[in-house]
Amino acid sequence: MNIKLIKVSKTPSDFEIISDKITFKGFLQYDSDKLFRLDAEIKGSLPVICDVCAENYEMNIDEKIDFFISDGLYKASNESLIDVVEAIDGEADLDEILASELELVKSDYNTCSKCKNS
Ligand SMILES: [Zn+2]
Repeated sequence: MNIKLIKVSKTPSDFEIISDKITFKGFLQYDSDKLFRLDAEIKGSLPVICDVCAENYEMNIDEKIDFFISDGLYKASNESLIDVVEAIDGEADLDEILASELELVKSDYNTCSKCKNS
């Protein structure tokens, strides 16, 4: 799902993406300059591999994400600490954002409940 940034205003644009057992839900809102705020949550379960026993298991996810999307290249002003993702062609690719967030979760150190309890 792509959202054209030009259509995003100060009024939050809600979105919801359901992919397998994951729901990615939140809103996009124009902030200032070329920046748009993305505030969303990712909930559901994701198949991951246990780093201890190498078994597949379903991990519950409940993550809040909050960052900015810039329409085009973003030049950070000296000490800005905000997270900015650059959008190409004036569109926010929400599937891509979801996929990269899930990759982060997968690349974390994950342990299944059996290994956690032993
Ligand atoms: Zn395990």
